[in-house]
Amino acid sequence: MIIGLLNQKGGVGKTTLSINLAASLAHMGARVLLLDVDPQGSALDWAAAREGKPLFSVMGLPRASVHKEIGQIGKDYDHIIIDGPPRVTDLARSAIMASDLILIPVQPSPYDIWAADEVVKLIEEARIYKEKLKFAFVVNRKIANTAIGRDVKEALSSYSVPIFTSSITQRVIFAETAAQGKSVHEIDPQSSAALEIEAVKDELMGFIK
Ligand code: ADP
Ligand code: MG
Repeated sequence: MIIGLLNQKGGVGKTTLSINLAASLAHMGARVLLLDVDPQGSALDWAAAREGKPLFSVMGLPRASVHKEIGQIGKDYDHIIIDGPPRVTDLARSAIMASDLILIPVQPSPYDIWAADEVVKLIEEARIYKEKLKFAFVVNRKIANTAIGRDVKEALSSYSVPIFTSSITQRVIFAETAAQGKSVHEIDPQSSAALEIEAVKDELMGFIK
């Protein structure tokens, strides 16, 4: 299965969710490849910061030919996660065409909800050629104990895009683990952060069945 984390807005959590979902799939025993399509190469930086055994393979491929190359590159993996690029439309289009399922991380802010318009349009274009392409929003950086999470779901419902029931809270552990090249699961599999990632992973697996 090829899962693209896409949103042309930067800082929404594409890389954070890519890494932690890849780790979560790898912990299940799946062979996982993380394809870094962002020219900034943040997932590659994450892998370089890591000490010890890799959790999964990470490869940089910031090219608009991802959709053509992925069959060959991904043939030895059970799951491929594509960490999508900000802005660059050609790369985003190629990443969308390469994916079976697209997860669009959005933060609970009106700006993020408006900005999602751009990626939703690209996906709708791609669906003309790729009818089976699935896609959904996932809320990231929800602030605990606020109603914003609920409000954001309401605001997002103006798009006709499914919204994951599970979401990810704003937690320092995501930034801390990023700096060490680790996943939140490795620090503590029972932590709230790890359990939230697990829930998104489970919803993802259910979604593609
Ligand atoms: P993108 O790849 O979409 O640009 P990133 O995953 O790099 O976004 O996230 C942007 C910044 O926000 C990073 O510093 C990351 O550590 C932080 N971040 C992302 N998600 C969370 C979260 N749920 N809680 C805390 N920090 C987060
Ligand atoms: Mg990124």
